[in-house]
Amino acid sequence: MGKQSNEQGQEDVDLKIYNGEGDRLNISRVPIILWIVFIFIEGIVIQNISTPLPFRSLLFSLAITLHVLLYWHVRKVLNYGSWIYFIIQAGIIFLSAFLLPVSFPIVLIGLIPILIGQSIGIYYQTKKVVLVFVGFYLLFCLAMIWHRDDENSVLFIGLLILIVIIVAAYSILFYGQVNARIRTQNFLTELELAHQKVEELTLANERQRMARDLHDTLAQGLAGLIMQLEAVDAHMIKGSSQRAHEIVQQSMSQARKALADSRRAIDNLRSKSASEVDFSDAVREEAQRFTMATGIRTSLNIKMKSSVSRLLIEHGLQIISECLTNVGKHSYAKNAWINILDNSDKITIVVRDDGKGFNPDLIARRSGHYGLIGIHERARLLGGTIQINSTVQEGTSIKIEVPLTKGDVS
Ligand code: ADP
Ligand code: CA
Repeated sequence: MGKQSNEQGQEDVDLKIYNGEGDRLNISRVPIILWIVFIFIEGIVIQNISTPLPFRSLLFSLAITLHVLLYWHVRKVLNYGSWIYFIIQAGIIFLSAFLLPVSFPIVLIGLIPILIGQSIGIYYQTKKVVLVFVGFYLLFCLAMIWHRDDENSVLFIGLLILIVIIVAAYSILFYGQVNARIRTQNFLTELELAHQKVEELTLANERQRMARDLHDTLAQGLAGLIMQLEAVDAHMIKGSSQRAHEIVQQSMSQARKALADSRRAIDNLRSKSASEVDFSDAVREEAQRFTMATGIRTSLNIKMKSSVSRLLIEHGLQIISECLTNVGKHSYAKNAWINILDNSDKITIVVRDDGKGFNPDLIARRSGHYGLIGIHERARLLGGTIQINSTVQEGTSIKIEVPLTKGDVS
């Protein structure tokens, strides 16, 4: 019998023996009830052949009926405490045995082992079962002494041990099987729960992706437009309408790009296909738009030997676009640099500026800012790493390294 270290866990299993495995237990109860009926008939017959005791036989019948009823409804009685169940059943067995003096040893030897076997199913714990066994055995010995059946006492005391051993061996095997089955069922339930969890996470992932796409297309596009409108406003106040006109032109192309990006994001939601673009060209275009819009000089250094997957293009472009938006929005930089290079196993993207810098640790705790979070998430989706180095008054450098597997290279 397995001794369990976790008492709480064990109680769970016990309850399941009586709840989850109800059918099987009901089947197992039938032979035991038949056995009790057999002992009952034998007790009545032997007693009444030797010395007829009709009234006591009637009381004995009532007691055994109660014993069987309690046995059948063991689950309900156990709610009040297992010890109560054993004490009541023991009381019934010993009282009924005393009712029929001739059948006294038969009743005890027939019914006690059943209760001890049942304690194995209820506790499945060596200590408690041994306690039940010792308790019953002592009561049995006392009852034998009380009954003064001296010649046969030794024989009966030995016989009880023998029967208890047989019943215990059977119970251990039986409840061992039941427990194994319950464990299997629990594993299956846990597996099912894990499966549901994966589905929920997939949905949450999908929502995150939608939020990220919304931020990167609409929110970011609008932020860029606001920056440009502010610049237009400043130029109009200064009276340089020529420059204002140029920026309006840029804004229009930016607005068209934001619209196209949003459409692409919506398309991506519908189907997962991303339009084929050349990564280096797309980065060059992005840098040009950025310089036009912000006036920040942007140096490009792109050294790419292999072409990359669509997933990398999609996330890589959004990462660069968000980095540049941040340079334009927050850094007050004069220059920006974009370096992209790949070797056989990874691609490295660095976006750097010489602006005012910031403290990434402080920023990480602020809510309502999703750009950097989006970059982290995209890097994670690509299986890559991100490193943000920023020094106040010197500038910011964001480096993303993504491993290139065979699947990435298209
Ligand atoms: P948002 O742009 O909406 O504020 P982000 O997550 O993109 O959110 O950026 C968070 C913050 O990090 C910004 O508000 C800004 O203070 C700081 N930050 C990001 N990039 C730079 C940068 N290149 N230079 C200076 N500060 C930056
Ligand atoms: Ca941002």
